[in-house]
Amino acid sequence: MSISYALNQIRNIGIIAHIDAGKTTTTERILFYSGRTHRLGDVDKGTTVTDWLDQERERGITITAAAITTTWCDTVTGQEAQINIIDTPGHIDFTAEVQRSLRVLDGGIVVFDAVAGVEPQSETVWHQADSYGVPRICFINKMDRVGADMERTLQMMRERLRADPLPIQLPVGVEEKFSGVVDLFRMKALLFIDELGATPTLTDVPSELRDAARTARAYLVEKIAETDDDLTRKFLEGTEISNDELYQALRRAVIANKLVPVLVGSALRNKGVQSLLDAIVRYLPSPLDVPPIKGINPRNQQQEVRHSDPKGPFCALVFKIVADPFVDRLAYLRVYSGVLRAGSRVYNANRGSKERVRHLLQMQADKRQEIDACRAGDIVAVVGLKQTFTGETLCDMTHSIQLETINFPQPVINIAVEAPSTADQDRLHEALAKLAEEDPTFRRIFDPESGQTVISGMGELHLEIIVERLRREFNLTCKVGPPQVAHRETITKTVEAEGRYIQQTGGHGHYAVVWLEVAPNERGAGFAFEDRITRGAIPKQFIPAVERGILEAMESGVLVGYPVVDVKVTLLDGKFHEVDSSQADFEAAGSLAFKAACRQADPILLEPVMRVEVTVPKDYLGNIVNDISRRRGNIEGLEVSGDLIHRVRAGVPLNEMLGYATDLRSMTSGRGTFTMELDHYAPAPPQITDKILGEPYYI
Ligand code: GDP
Repeated sequence: MSISYALNQIRNIGIIAHIDAGKTTTTERILFYSGRTHRLGDVDKGTTVTDWLDQERERGITITAAAITTTWCDTVTGQEAQINIIDTPGHIDFTAEVQRSLRVLDGGIVVFDAVAGVEPQSETVWHQADSYGVPRICFINKMDRVGADMERTLQMMRERLRADPLPIQLPVGVEEKFSGVVDLFRMKALLFIDELGATPTLTDVPSELRDAARTARAYLVEKIAETDDDLTRKFLEGTEISNDELYQALRRAVIANKLVPVLVGSALRNKGVQSLLDAIVRYLPSPLDVPPIKGINPRNQQQEVRHSDPKGPFCALVFKIVADPFVDRLAYLRVYSGVLRAGSRVYNANRGSKERVRHLLQMQADKRQEIDACRAGDIVAVVGLKQTFTGETLCDMTHSIQLETINFPQPVINIAVEAPSTADQDRLHEALAKLAEEDPTFRRIFDPESGQTVISGMGELHLEIIVERLRREFNLTCKVGPPQVAHRETITKTVEAEGRYIQQTGGHGHYAVVWLEVAPNERGAGFAFEDRITRGAIPKQFIPAVERGILEAMESGVLVGYPVVDVKVTLLDGKFHEVDSSQADFEAAGSLAFKAACRQADPILLEPVMRVEVTVPKDYLGNIVNDISRRRGNIEGLEVSGDLIHRVRAGVPLNEMLGYATDLRSMTSGRGTFTMELDHYAPAPPQITDKILGEPYYI
């Protein structure tokens, strides 16, 4: 396929939403109207195009970020665009997926449920989008539901997101009478009369909405005019501003993150989706509108930039690896500059290795179109990369650049998994390796001493899904241990200690002596290392080996065996031998000194404290608050939205939150929901430490 769309016609977007807000349905409808799928899928029947993993179908949640390409022609301006949609998951256990997609998006659509309004996950993701500077538009979905309320949702956006939403439409009717939208630019109503909503009718604004529409339009024009000097002048002079001028100014304001246009609709009832597509084309940025990407030249550590330009040297970021059932291993890339051709060789700047691109695929939901080449601005899938992983940069061999890698949160929950039989052990390890390759927040550790395999993830649901995938995709029904919290260890006292690694009996010996000071570092500050060796007591080339030895020792603390965090280590002194000393000897001495120091430095256990947000109907509030207090929770806020829904925000130790999904369901007859993410680590109370010291643990 030849490259047909100009760069300014590309839209790389993500649809971001709280679980259940309607992201999957909206994506599905977008694909339907834009002509790539010919049958409306229905999430409730499990047939949508984007949810192509079996489990997603069963659970009705979207886990894997699939990139889908489609095209649309703005029904108002006639402008055509190619839209690449990067699917993002809505469950907090998968925020890493959201983060990695935000990294490669140019713009986002945030979908809200018109009844629930701004839900916790949307809030988290909104702030992440702020930090990545992602321009966005909002879609208030489910206007057909009982209790739908655009105004309340806007108010929640102002309060909870500190956003300044700008409605560009008003709903015509609400709940079961919701029938279309008022376009505040054209001052016309767009009614979706037929069931599929395929041919909306443009009519006059219904008389009962005229006043509201006039007020809303005046506000819209004023807000847009404020963002542009020329329009401000016209506005103040009372000169008519044309819709084209407004469209262009709004586009600039969205791209500059100054305004967030808001649309309304009902994806399920096929109302308002075409206007959303128009808005994507009209207001969201093309790759040319976003700042050039920055990176480091791995050869000289100098900063480099790459402009969105097909004529520049090739550079792309790998944002997802999927073990694909048809073509083995797919790597999704965002190309930032240059051109990549099928059959060519590329350079992996993170690994310093070469890779061959066998095929290039453009993903159209579960269909795939083979293409000869892709260029700056494109999102494509590559077949043939063997040793390239999420977050790594592919580039032109002669112009190497390493883009900032994607940071993923640390796993907080561990479970032990056991293969169905010893004969299946190897298969289990292979399967886990494959899954870990796809998902950088998932870790696996094999402990040869206990023969146990432990997997770690972001939450109970995350690990449940991994276990189910083992069963379904790899035919491995594993025995699974109870979930355990991933603790950390740290120290509370500053001490000095010596590490000696000396063996000098016969042949080539070993000789390394190291003196360290080990001190507590601020909570969350991580590891710091300082070299204070004077007069060459340890030669320069051995110092990094000492640090490596310490880092290795930190992987398993002296108290229980959990990783050690937040320590400052100073290398004070040491001894070496002209002939016998080696890198490995200094690594060993560094490890020994660090462990010895920790033993004397009053080590303690740290437990993860989660930011928890529970949403329940009013009547359950008292019980929920008491229950959180019993779980050693610290209530940080209560919030009422509408008459029905109450929210509780709290910091609660993860040790007290295991199985909370089930408990909450039974406490609220299934009407409560919650989200949870790691906030910080805090010292565990004695009862937890004693319990953990007295039981078998997984690292
Ligand atoms: P996701 O979790 O954000 O991907 O949400 P889904 O698209 O899976 O939708 C969640 C539920 O809301 C499903 O039962 C949908 O049928 C329903 N839903 C989606 N859009 C609408 C809508 O516009 N109106 C109504 N009433 N329900 C909707």
